[in-house]
Amino acid sequence: SRREGFSAIPNVKWEDVGGLDLLRKEFDRYIVRRITHREDYAEFGVDLETGFLLYGPPGCGKTLIAKAIANEAGANFIHIKGPEVLNKYVGESELAVRTIFSRARTCAPCILFFDEVDALATKRGTEGGWVVGRLLNQLLIELDGAGQRKGVFVIGATNRPKDMDPALLRPGRFGKLLYVPLPGPEERGLILKALARNKPIDEDVDLMDIGRREACENLSGADLAAVINEAAMAAMEEKHVSGLGSYSMKTWTIKAAHFEQALKKIS
Ligand code: ATP
Repeated sequence: SRREGFSAIPNVKWEDVGGLDLLRKEFDRYIVRRITHREDYAEFGVDLETGFLLYGPPGCGKTLIAKAIANEAGANFIHIKGPEVLNKYVGESELAVRTIFSRARTCAPCILFFDEVDALATKRGTEGGWVVGRLLNQLLIELDGAGQRKGVFVIGATNRPKDMDPALLRPGRFGKLLYVPLPGPEERGLILKALARNKPIDEDVDLMDIGRREACENLSGADLAAVINEAAMAAMEEKHVSGLGSYSMKTWTIKAAHFEQALKKIS
């Protein structure tokens, strides 16, 4: 896997993201088109937020969306994990923050993604106190340098927005807050379809219907990925057990019965 902080254009496409249409529209206006149609925004003097905070329960697509935005815009993506900045560079985390932003400027247009950003940004005077306080100040300084941040869009992600220092949520910093919810019945179907895009799903399987089922209630996107994976594994094992393997003319697909097995296992 890639080294942390490595920049590249991610290969996650919008088709890989299920549901979340409103978020997509927002990010299209706020980031993608600002990169792909820079002149238009300049011509009309449109000035918009460059810092975003995605918040919501784990496994619902925050990282996935951020990558898809970068892919769509043809922009570089830098993935920073909040807790790692703290742990890896004890005593040097302020320098680390400066380095991260300077690297982002070098590879603009770029999406700078801070996963678990709350680790860097807990309210001053709580947990970790001193170290986090200085780190937070450095982060605020870098975020405020928006003028020099041309082509760098910052997206933070957190499951615990309430733990974040409110200073971070001001305009120009992580100024635009966007909620990424647990999927509802229809969205679950759309997520299953997105996840199944490159898998041999039997034509008898109705993924939208599976999404609406009670067994899927309260499942996150990450849980649904586990369902698909279980179903795929069940189908694969059946093929192996049959002993026909690659000599068989039969096409092997992931069938409704495999999904039933998977759902039982997950719930
Ligand atoms: P965390 O808060 O735990 O970091 P997250 O919200 O960033 O979670 P992701 O890392 O984006 O969640 O999602 C984890 C995995 O779950 C994805 O790689 C994907 O397989 C699946 N997934 C989650 N949400 C979606 C979605 N909306 N569409 C398709 N797949 C999804």
